[in-house]
Amino acid sequence: MRECNTEENLAKCNCSYEPCSRKGICCECMSYHRRSGEFPACFFPDDVEKTYNRSIDNFIKTYQKRGQWW
Ligand code: SF4
Repeated sequence: MRECNTEENLAKCNCSYEPCSRKGICCECMSYHRRSGEFPACFFPDDVEKTYNRSIDNFIKTYQKRGQWW
């Protein structure tokens, strides 16, 4: 079974919500936000991520306004 490379994931993670226990564990992060109809922090530019509005609606609005930012 493939192991999670938490250190590598954390190096790429832009999530500013510090107390989250899912940080660096992308499968749990994705699953958690998917259940809530959201995307994880890394789907948003840093300034939008900091608002903690991770809704799909906010992703679409941000994408329409800025285009691809990654
Ligand atoms: S995006 Fe959400 S689940 Fe993922 S580390 Fe940040 S707060 Fe936690």
